[in-house]
Amino acid sequence: MLDLNQKTDYDHLNYDQLVLIYKKCQACKLSKYRNHVVVGHGNVPSHIMIIGEGPGVQEDLEGKPFVGRSGQLLVKLLSSVGIDRDKEVYIANTVACRPPGNRTPHRTEIETCQHYLLRQIHIVQPKILLLLGNPSLKMVLGQQFGITKVRGQWFSQAVTYMTDPLYIMPLFHPAYLLRNASKNNGSPQWLTRQDLQKVKDLLMLNSMPSYFTVESQSVEASPF
Ligand code: SF4
Repeated sequence: MLDLNQKTDYDHLNYDQLVLIYKKCQACKLSKYRNHVVVGHGNVPSHIMIIGEGPGVQEDLEGKPFVGRSGQLLVKLLSSVGIDRDKEVYIANTVACRPPGNRTPHRTEIETCQHYLLRQIHIVQPKILLLLGNPSLKMVLGQQFGITKVRGQWFSQAVTYMTDPLYIMPLFHPAYLLRNASKNNGSPQWLTRQDLQKVKDLLMLNSMPSYFTVESQSVEASPF
C-alpha cells in the first residue's frame, strides 16, 4: 500500500512549480501519446480529493480531468448529495497522461507518476480521499482489495499535514456507472449515491464513520 507521508523529490515545490514539472514530464511512455498533461483540477486546498484512473479522450484534448461523460456523471452524483465540485473538490488521476485506447494504466506507469500525485495530496491537504475504481484503490490501499468488496467503506491513514486521520473511501468509477445506467435500489448508481451521502455526512459532521485502519507497512485491514 502507498505511504501517503513518504518524501518525494518534489516536496520543495509549490503548486505552480509542480504543474510546470508535470507539463515537461517524459518519465514514462505515456508521454508519447498525449496531447496534454492532465494535472489535477479544483480548489487548493480542498476538503475532498478524488483520484480517478487516467485521462480519457476529452480530458486529453482539454487538459482537464473528468470533463467527458464520466465527469458529467460524477458532478451530477456529487451535486445530488450537496457536494459542489467547483468549491469543495479537487480531482486528479493515477496517471496524468492518457493511456492509448483508454486502456488501464500499467502499474509501472502509475508508480512513475505517483510521486507527483503524492506532492499534490500534500499541497491539496484533503480531509477525505475518494478512490474511483480499481487502479486508484490498488495504488493507495493495496493490490489485495477489489472495488466491489470495499466500495463505500471507510479506511483511514495518519497524515503529517493534519492531526485528524485522513479518511479514505473507494467508490465505483463513473465510467462503470455509465455502463450500468440503472438507478434502481441496489444498482451501482444507487449504491454510489449512498456512499457519497456518507461523505457529505462526514463533511457536515452529522455522523462519524466506523472505519478500517491501514498501517503504512501493513496490508491488513481490521474493523473497529
Ligand atoms: S503519466 Fe505521469 S509520469 Fe508518465 S509521462 Fe505523464 S506526467 Fe510523466
